[in-house]
Amino acid sequence: MNQRSISIFGATGSIGASTTDLLRSEKGKWRVVALTAQSSISELAQLAREFEAEIAVVGDERCLGELRDALAGTGIEAAAGKAALIEAAARPVDLTVAGIVGCAGLAPTMAAIEQGGTVALANKEALVSAGEVMTAAVARHRATLLPVDSEHNAIFQCLAGNDLADVRWITLTASGGPFREWSEERLAAATPVEAVRHPNWDMGAKISVDSATMMNKGLELIEAFHLFPVGLDRLRILVHPQSVIHSMVEYRDGSTLAQLGPSDMRVPIASALAWPARMNTTCDPLDLAAIGTLSFAAPDEVRFPATRLAREAAEAGGAAPAVLNAANEVAVAAFLAGQIGFTRIAAHVANVLETYAPSAPASLDDVLAVDSEARSRARLLMETA
Ligand code: NDP
Ligand code: MG
Repeated sequence: MNQRSISIFGATGSIGASTTDLLRSEKGKWRVVALTAQSSISELAQLAREFEAEIAVVGDERCLGELRDALAGTGIEAAAGKAALIEAAARPVDLTVAGIVGCAGLAPTMAAIEQGGTVALANKEALVSAGEVMTAAVARHRATLLPVDSEHNAIFQCLAGNDLADVRWITLTASGGPFREWSEERLAAATPVEAVRHPNWDMGAKISVDSATMMNKGLELIEAFHLFPVGLDRLRILVHPQSVIHSMVEYRDGSTLAQLGPSDMRVPIASALAWPARMNTTCDPLDLAAIGTLSFAAPDEVRFPATRLAREAAEAGGAAPAVLNAANEVAVAAFLAGQIGFTRIAAHVANVLETYAPSAPASLDDVLAVDSEARSRARLLMETA
């Protein structure tokens, strides 16, 4: 069996755990180069030992000593800091899994793209923020982006063998999150514990809050805009509470192709790991008779204004999506820390977008500068609100 090499950025997170679980089922097929985390040292060291990684990198520089101690005697390199993450991403591998949360994953993802590799992209915030800067780098370096986000992976599968020019609609399905049926009054009092309790998916805290505000679908709309260039007016969102249909593509002849599966991220990740072939997984088979009913509804942009904000940012283009994303990251962190209420998240993002409209970024450094400035302004606006 031909061994393939892989690096996993964000190995200790939810996407990381689904990925390592799949690698375990194909022992011997993969050679692990880099595994990374932010500060979960013991989890990272344990994974690095188990998979005999070449290097383990931790984002937080203060954790380097602890990581070295945890890896003592193994021969596994230990490194820390943003530059070390980028250096690790530049090591050539057959597949890089971009599973860091937030714009923090952008620079390493760009480094993986710049070595012309294949990137399994879960880290949607990186593509939302960098937009054309990232897609241009993909084209320039002949890199390949394989979407891991379940909707985008579904669309990618439904588009295979077809011509984008024949697409009438791309429909991103949305579960509607845990507050789908909540009134505006109740939403205003929603707590972080309630927000991270997603009905269908088990995910990290940040994306769970994004699902509850529907900003996740807004970010996904921008992600789809860059991955599948059919134009914004051909992208739409459909609420589908059972999360069985992961997205759909309608063609001009009236045919609609959909991808269905269990709500288990191992399915789209497996599709990226094995692409263009298929691999076995132990995921539950889809039992449609047991599910019985699939239902659909239009999104409600009054209770959940985040999707409208994201669409407007996509229409504005330039730096707007990076500002939207940065403001959202700051607001979600503040909500999780109990500093602002749930409905303030979208209101806060709208405020930042209204007051900060920098010119379009032309390089990675430009995007990082916009992200950093938008974060400072978001924090300041929050303090003075
Ligand atoms: P988690 O919070 O579970 O994991 C995040 C990972 O990134 C951890 O390994 C964490 O390390 C690391 N990390 C966090 N902050 C930093 C930083 N500043 N620098 C470097 N590394 C960092 O997130 P998820 O796995 O849920 O999500 C990861 C990405 O995938 C997100 O962009 C999300 O939107 C996307 N995604 C996730 C899905 C899911 O089902 N979870 C579905 C679709 C997309 P540590 O453990 O040390 O904190
Ligand atoms: Mg998704």
